[in-house]
Amino acid sequence: MIDFHFHSLHSDGTDRPEDLPHLAEAAGLSAACLTDHDTVDGIAAFLAEQPKVKVRLLAGTELSCRFLGRSLHVLGLLVDHEDARFRERLADLRGRREDRNLRMVKRLQELGHRITLEDVQAQADSPLLSRVHFAKALVAAGSVKHTHEAFERLIGDDGPGYVEREELEPEEAARWIREAGGVPIVAHPGRFGRHGFPWEEPMKDLQARGIAGFEAYYGEYNPAQQHYFLRLSEKLKMVVSGGSDYHGANKPGLKIGVGRGDLRVPDSLLVDLESVRARGAWN
Ligand code: AMP
Ligand code: MN
Ligand code: MN
Ligand code: MN
Repeated sequence: MIDFHFHSLHSDGTDRPEDLPHLAEAAGLSAACLTDHDTVDGIAAFLAEQPKVKVRLLAGTELSCRFLGRSLHVLGLLVDHEDARFRERLADLRGRREDRNLRMVKRLQELGHRITLEDVQAQADSPLLSRVHFAKALVAAGSVKHTHEAFERLIGDDGPGYVEREELEPEEAARWIREAGGVPIVAHPGRFGRHGFPWEEPMKDLQARGIAGFEAYYGEYNPAQQHYFLRLSEKLKMVVSGGSDYHGANKPGLKIGVGRGDLRVPDSLLVDLESVRARGAWN
């Protein structure tokens, strides 16, 4: 069993990166890939635990793209986290995020919420601020009772307090990831668009734009979704990945490795991902 999608406190999770390898080991995993949003800052501390655990520790990240008018997440699995150009590109993405965050604070203030950037920062353990931290700050300010209410009423993708940031084109994300030696994988396609979204044609389009595969196993999929995406991968000859999307206490009910309890991502997927990686830049 493996888990190739989870977060640390360097993005919107709550665990220290050095603790995650031990959770992976306790879950009985053979390999684990840390995929914080827009950063590889947690990777060094994560990989430094390698001598202490049997689980194979791997580097990744999760980027946000614009696709069909919505946000599409793309994982960069097995990237070289020390690649200088990739790190600069990620720093640029974090700059766009900071700009969005400033505009989002302003928007929330205009909507009558007493919230500052410092209030949001106070909810985070790293410099990267995400909507998860906005949600917590809105609870602390008394604007909403629970973080899920913050997403429902204010800062969800269609909410009045949400401000978009400039997102990558899928081919740009795919190229950046491949140039850093990684494998570009669509994260949780089952969460994109309405339920039952027909993925075949859009996924072919993404494949033509450099995306190698997608998550057929995911912490929040039901068995029918897993089945659908496994069949699609056979049809399109695309590689498959999977993970829990564990965020620690920021996403209660999900555990590393097993998701809601029944997730099992097969070991063999790593072999496939490594062979895509070995085929090099544009195969
Ligand atoms: P950001 O990258 O700052 O726009 O924040 C996106 C993050 O917010 C996602 O990775 C999720 O962790 C979280 N998120 C987005 N929408 C929701 C939602 N409706 N309910 C709970 N968490 C959400
Ligand atoms: Mn997240
Ligand atoms: Mn995501
Ligand atoms: Mn994620």
